[in-house]
Amino acid sequence: KFLVMNRRERTFTAIKPDAVHRGLVGEIISIFERKGYKLVGLKLVLPDRKLAENHYSELRDKPFFPDLVDFISSGPVVAMCWEGKDVVRTARKLLGATNPLESEPGTIRGRYGIDIGRNVVHSSDAVTTAEREIQLWFTEHELVDWDPAVARWVY
Ligand code: ADP
Ligand code: MG
Repeated sequence: KFLVMNRRERTFTAIKPDAVHRGLVGEIISIFERKGYKLVGLKLVLPDRKLAENHYSELRDKPFFPDLVDFISSGPVVAMCWEGKDVVRTARKLLGATNPLESEPGTIRGRYGIDIGRNVVHSSDAVTTAEREIQLWFTEHELVDWDPAVARWVY
């Protein structure tokens, strides 16, 4: 029973405006697909300041907060919900450390970023955070519950 729950874990991942501008959308989605995760939510968003502030509300006292909100709300952002075993923690590994100076070269930030404020991607830092962020960015009907084992259209 635990395993079943675990396999259905979901996270909120976002491709930040710098990466959209640089044409890295397909590349980043591919990394998650090839890793084995299932895409259950996907949309291109121009977040308003309220959404950006809410998303990063834990950081509101940081000196970089205004720039962070400006940057995220400049858009566009690719908002995604990925599902699968241990997806929250594994997604953070795929992203690499927050500061590209410290992220391993094989990670998304390690490969594509040089600046902490323009670090290509976001992914929820814990299961509880993921629940909050998925609710913030998606409505219930925007999340698709599909079964990859039922490949009816694949020959
Ligand atoms: P993460 O995105 O890895 O979860 P945080 O939640 O700590 O990292 O920070 C959110 C985002 O704020 C980071 O991804 C980064 O874009 C930005 N940020 C964090 N620290 C700094 C900093 N010292 N200077 C500028 N931007 C920062
Ligand atoms: Mg964070």
